[in-house]
Amino acid sequence: MLIGKSKGWFDRWLTPRTTEVSFETGESEKTSPQEKTTAPEPDTMVVIDPIEGGDVTAAPDTSAPETTPAAPATTEAPQTTEAPETTEAPQTTAAPQTTEDEPQTSGSSERPTSGDGKKYVALTFDDGPDMRYTSSTKRILDILEQYGAKATFFTLASQLDYNGVADENTGETFAQRNAKLIKRASDLGMEIGTHTYNHKNLNTLSTEEIQKELYSAIEKVEAITGKEIQIMRPPYGNANQKVQDAINMPMIIWDVDSLDWESKDPDKIYSRVMSTVQPGSIILMHDIYNTTADGVALVVPALIEKGYTIVTVSELYRIYGKELQPHHVYMAPWYDD
Ligand SMILES: [Zn+2]
Repeated sequence: MLIGKSKGWFDRWLTPRTTEVSFETGESEKTSPQEKTTAPEPDTMVVIDPIEGGDVTAAPDTSAPETTPAAPATTEAPQTTEAPETTEAPQTTAAPQTTEDEPQTSGSSERPTSGDGKKYVALTFDDGPDMRYTSSTKRILDILEQYGAKATFFTLASQLDYNGVADENTGETFAQRNAKLIKRASDLGMEIGTHTYNHKNLNTLSTEEIQKELYSAIEKVEAITGKEIQIMRPPYGNANQKVQDAINMPMIIWDVDSLDWESKDPDKIYSRVMSTVQPGSIILMHDIYNTTADGVALVVPALIEKGYTIVTVSELYRIYGKELQPHHVYMAPWYDD
């Protein structure tokens, strides 16, 4: 089908354009959750691409947050790419420091703070809701609700395409169930961002393809929540200059990688997060694994015990007095300019 400039959502997001974009209806089918159950999960796919100039300088690689709280590896380009989701090894090196937790709130004059002396952190979940046979998103929502915590879900629109029957009794499809999960999250006050439609590496796409991946996903999810999506997370954290130019919204990366997709171990998720988190951190997790839900059950009360208030990404930036801008990549408010 063709979607032209007459579509409201399209006009809202796109910079002026002169041609129409063709949306291939069959495309989402090819990467439906049905197939993903056997295929490598999106974030396990290794796609580091030191190909394009800007990518090599990349940023908050997984080892960065641990080295020193002062400056994650790169000087000023956490936005160019970085790909914690795609790296395989760094996390096992460099034992996370346990001293990063406290100092920032009161000390550090250079570093941005929340301003009220309190500690805030943002939990973020990618690739959901759910995989075909997991109930991880539901469980994570239950935990967040129980503790009064908020989180940001960077949803993958293709998770809403699989029409296999999820519930024999009701006939409910996986697509319907996942749509309900997004609605529930939104109604609970969670922030719904987008992680595009098909989890492609945007660095490899044309501008038109990038925008199609983004705006078709936005349209689909906004129809469920009735709320405008304000932020996006590029798959693999990949957002080179072309991607940044193409995407007319803030791109949110992270500074703490739980490595949940790799360890699939709640205890490791817990220790990884708790040893690398600091005030103003944005924590990466994936709500498609039951092991991640188990990890969240450990992490959320532990963060609260440590004095953190768990908020959405947009709220975190508001608290830090920073306005998110389109065409920019953000890692975490304690670090970003
Ligand atoms: Zn992802």
